[in-house]
Amino acid sequence: MRTSQYLISTVKETPADAQVISHKLMLKSGMVRKLAAGLYSWLPMGLRTLRKVEAIVREEMENAGCQEVLMPAAQPAELWQESGRWEQYGSELLRFTDRHNRDFCLGPTHEEVITDLMRNEIRSYKQLPSTFFQIQTKFRDEVRPRFGLMRGREFLMKDAYSFHVNHQSLLETYEKMHAAYCCIFDRLGLDYRPVLADTGSIGGTGSHEFHVLADSGEDDIAFSDSSDYAANVEMAEALSPAGDRAEPTQAMELVETPNAKTIDQLVEQHSIAIEKTAKTLIVEASDEIEANFVALMIRGDHDLNEIKAEKLSEVAVPLRMATDEEVRQAMKASPGSLGPINCSIPVIIDRSVEKMSDFGAGANIDNKHYFGINWGRDLELPKVADLRNVQAGDPSPCGQGTLDIKRGIEVGHIFQLGTKYSQAMKATVLDENGKAATMTMGCYGIGVSRVVAAAVEQNHDDRGIIWPEAIAPFRVCIVPMKMHKSVRVKEAAEAIYAELKAKGVEVILDDRNERPGSMFADMELIGIPHRIVIGERGVDSGTFEYLNRREGEKKEFTKEQLFEALG
Ligand code: ATP
Ligand code: MG
Ligand code: MG
Ligand code: MG
Repeated sequence: MRTSQYLISTVKETPADAQVISHKLMLKSGMVRKLAAGLYSWLPMGLRTLRKVEAIVREEMENAGCQEVLMPAAQPAELWQESGRWEQYGSELLRFTDRHNRDFCLGPTHEEVITDLMRNEIRSYKQLPSTFFQIQTKFRDEVRPRFGLMRGREFLMKDAYSFHVNHQSLLETYEKMHAAYCCIFDRLGLDYRPVLADTGSIGGTGSHEFHVLADSGEDDIAFSDSSDYAANVEMAEALSPAGDRAEPTQAMELVETPNAKTIDQLVEQHSIAIEKTAKTLIVEASDEIEANFVALMIRGDHDLNEIKAEKLSEVAVPLRMATDEEVRQAMKASPGSLGPINCSIPVIIDRSVEKMSDFGAGANIDNKHYFGINWGRDLELPKVADLRNVQAGDPSPCGQGTLDIKRGIEVGHIFQLGTKYSQAMKATVLDENGKAATMTMGCYGIGVSRVVAAAVEQNHDDRGIIWPEAIAPFRVCIVPMKMHKSVRVKEAAEAIYAELKAKGVEVILDDRNERPGSMFADMELIGIPHRIVIGERGVDSGTFEYLNRREGEKKEFTKEQLFEALG
C-alpha cells in the first residue's frame, strides 16, 4: 500500500469531546469518525485493525470447535416476549415497529434468536455439545455512550452460544472457551485478567469477565495479592439484597414453599426425606418464611444428599434475599427441577445469616414437591461477597492475602446460562431414552470493537498509538527522504517495498511529498510497529535506518539485520 493512494486522515488538534486516550488517538490518527452519539464509522486504517482482531477471534473460535453463523440484527419482539426479556430489558433495548405495526428490536445480544434457531435445528442429544458463534453488529441504547469505541451504542461483538445435554458438558465447554479467550487475549498482546463476574441481564449462573487493565476502565477489579482470585466489584452489588437484579432468581420461579413457618416445623410436620436426586434446592431461612427468604443453589454435579455440611460453602451459592412479592410468586409457581447450577464462589447476602448446618431436603409430599433448608449451628460461611465497599488492603475473600483494586475494561464475558432460555423457549432434544430434554446453554461474548480501544489504552505514548504487532494496521512503514528529488532514494525505497511485499509483510510506503518530520509524526501517531527510513546516506552505505515504535531507538541495519528485526 502507498500513502499517496490511501486515506491518511490524521489530525493535529485533540478533539474536544474525547476524554480517554484511546478515543483521542483513534480520532487523531484517523481510525474512526463519529457519526452521532455512540455511532462510529471506521476509516480504512482503523478497519484493518478491527478486521485483525476479528480474524484472531474467529481463528480461536474455530480452534475451539465452534461453528460460525450469522443472525439478523433486527429481531421480532415475540422471541423476547417468550424469554420474558421484552419487559425486563429496559431502555437499552432499542425497540421499533415495522410498517405493519409489528414490534421489533435491534439485537443487543442474541440468546433468543439462537435458542429459537437451535430448537428447530438440533433434534438429538447426539448432536450435542455444539457451539455456534457470530461476529456481528449489536445495538444497545446506552444511557451514556462515551469513550468512543469503548462504550458505543452500535458496536461489533463476537457472541457464541453452546448447547448441551447436561451441566457437566456445559462446564467442559465453558472451560474450553475460557482457555480460548486466554489464547485470544494473549495473541492480541494485551495485559488482561479473567475475573469472577455477575451475570447481569443476560442471566444464568457462573460467569467470568475478561478485563484489560487500564486506568480508564469503568470497572473496579479486586485482586488477591497472593492467589489467582480476582472479582469484579460490581458483582456483589448485583447479588445483594439492595442489588437491582433484572429478573427474579430461578429458584424463586421454581420452588414451591411449604406451609410451615420454619424449616424445623417443616421437617417436623412433613417428616421430610432427603431426596436423592435433588440437585438444586433451596429455600428458606428464618422465622417468618414468607418474609425472609434466602435462596441457595447447589452446583451442578453435586448430589444434595452427599454434600457434607462443611463442604457446603464450596458447592452452594446463596442468591439474594427475595422480596415478599417474589416469595408469593414463588409459592404460586409450579414446582419443577431447577436444573443444575454452578457458581464459583460462595456468597453471603444476608449478613444476619452467618451459620448453617443440617442443610438440605427436597421432598415429595402429597405429590407436591418441596425444598427446604435448615440454618443453624455448625458451619461458619466465609463472608466473601460484599465487595461493594472493599478497599485495597482488605483481606481477600478467597482467604489468601489481601486485596488490590485496579481499574479494568471489560472486553469479554462468558456465562453459564443453564436452562434460562431453553426452558422459557422450550428448546429440547431427544435424550438417550427418546424423551424430550431441555438443553443446557452457555454464552460467550467479546467486544471486538472495544478490544481495539482497550489495546490503545494499554499501548500508546505521547506521540501516538503503539499497536501490538498482531493487530497493527500495517506492520512496517517505509519513509523515504526526499524521494521526489532523489532517484536513488526512490529506487531503493521501491526495491525494499517490493521485496517486503513479496515476502508477505504488510507494508505501507509513505510516498507523499511531505516533510520528513510530518511523515514521521503521522506514522508514529498511527502506530506502525516498524519504521524503515531510506536516505541518501543509507543508499551509499547499503544500510537501512530502522526504528522499532515501542523501543524508540534508531539503528543502522544491513538488509539481513533488517529482515531479522521484522521477523
Ligand atoms: P458493560 O458492563 O461494559 O456495559 P456488558 O456487561 O453490558 O458490558 P455483555 O452483555 O457482557 O456487556 O456483552 C459482551 C461484551 O460486549 C462485553 O464484555 C464488552 O466487551 C462488549 N460490550 C458491551 N457493551 C458494549 C458497548 N456499549 N460498546 C462496546 N462494547 C460493548
Ligand atoms: Mg452494559
Ligand atoms: Mg459488565
Ligand atoms: Mg458483561
